[in-house]
Amino acid sequence: MTGSSTDHMLKVTWSSSTGWGVPEIVPYAPLPLDPAATVLHYANECFEGMKAYRSKSTGKIRIFRPNLNAKRLNMSADRIALPSFDNDEFIALMRAYVAVEERWLAWSGNATFTVGDDNDFLYLRPMIIGTTPRLGLARPNDAMFLIIASKLPSWHSRPLRLLASSPAETVRAWPGGFGYAKVGANYGPTLQYQTHAASLGYDQVLWLFDAERRYVTEAGGANFFVVWRTDDAAVEFVTAPLELGTVLDGVTRRSVIELVRERMPDIRVTERQFSVDEIAAAVDSHRIIEAFACGTAYFIAPVAGINISGQEIPIPLKVEGKSGEYARTIRRWLEEIMYGETDHAWGVTV
Ligand code: PMP
Repeated sequence: MTGSSTDHMLKVTWSSSTGWGVPEIVPYAPLPLDPAATVLHYANECFEGMKAYRSKSTGKIRIFRPNLNAKRLNMSADRIALPSFDNDEFIALMRAYVAVEERWLAWSGNATFTVGDDNDFLYLRPMIIGTTPRLGLARPNDAMFLIIASKLPSWHSRPLRLLASSPAETVRAWPGGFGYAKVGANYGPTLQYQTHAASLGYDQVLWLFDAERRYVTEAGGANFFVVWRTDDAAVEFVTAPLELGTVLDGVTRRSVIELVRERMPDIRVTERQFSVDEIAAAVDSHRIIEAFACGTAYFIAPVAGINISGQEIPIPLKVEGKSGEYARTIRRWLEEIMYGETDHAWGVTV
C-alpha cells in the first residue's frame, strides 16, 4: 500500500486538565514533537483506516459505517490509556475533513460508472498519539488526534498468495494480549516476518496461533475467511472468532458476516477457531470452495494459495482464475453500498 498524502490534515489536542481543544483543518505538515513524547517511547498510538467514496448516482461523498470506526478507535485508545472522545464528534470531524479534501476524488459529472470499474477512493487515517514529554512510564497527560488522507491505487491486484507463519517462532497476537486493538504496537513487530514472506514471493502472512493446533487468525492487516463444504454438504463460511482477543473486529469482516447471513440464508457462517490443517484437509478431500482476505485497504481479496509448512496448498478461483464466486458477489454488494449504487444505512453521505 503506497500513496501520497493530500494537502490538509485535521488536528485536535487534548490535555488531562482541559480535555479536547478546538479542531483545526490545517495544511499538511510535519508535527513539532518533543523527542521525549511518550508515543516515541511507549507506543501510545492507535489508528483507524477508512475510505471515502464518491457516490456514482449523486456525486456526493460517502463513508462506510463510520460509527464502527469511531467505536473501535475509542476501544483502542482505552487499551493504551489514551483519552476517549465522543463518537458523534468523530463522525462530524470525518465529515468536515472529507468535505475539504473531496476534490481529490474524481467526478465526471455524470453517472456512467459501472460498479467494479476502476473505483476511486480516498484512504482516511484517523489516529491518536500520546504527546506528553516524559520518559517516566505513566499515562500521558497530553494527546493529539489527527486525520490525514492518502490517494492509494485501487486494489485490482492478482489473488493473494499467503505464507502461513510458524507459531513456534513468532505469533502476532495471543489471548490476553492486545491483538484486538488497532494500536501501532501490533504492526511494527509483524514487519520482520512479513519481509521474510515477501522475499519468498508471498503477498501476506497468514498468522497462525498455537504451535500444536495451528489456528488461523488473520492474513496480514486483514481478516480471513475460508469457504468449504461441510461433511453434511452445507456451504460454510468460517472465520476466526473475536472472543479470544487475537483478531481485529474488522468492519469488512462484520459486514461480510451480516450480508451473507441476511442475503444467503442457506449458507452457514461460523466464527470459531479453525486450523490451517483443516484447510489442507478440505483441499485434499475437494471440499474447499474458496478463501479470501478482507479489510478496508485490501477490500475483498481472493486467495490463490497458502504455503503451509513448505507445502503449497492451492485454493480454487472459479471466476476466470481471479476470484471465487462468493468473493465476487460479496465484493459487488459492498461496492454497491460504498459507491452509492444502492441506498443503504451503511453508506453515510458526507
Ligand atoms: N485485521 C487487521 C490486523 C487489520 O489491521 C485490519 C485493517 N484495519 C483488518 C483486520 C480489517 O479491518 P477493517 O475491515 O475494519 O479494515
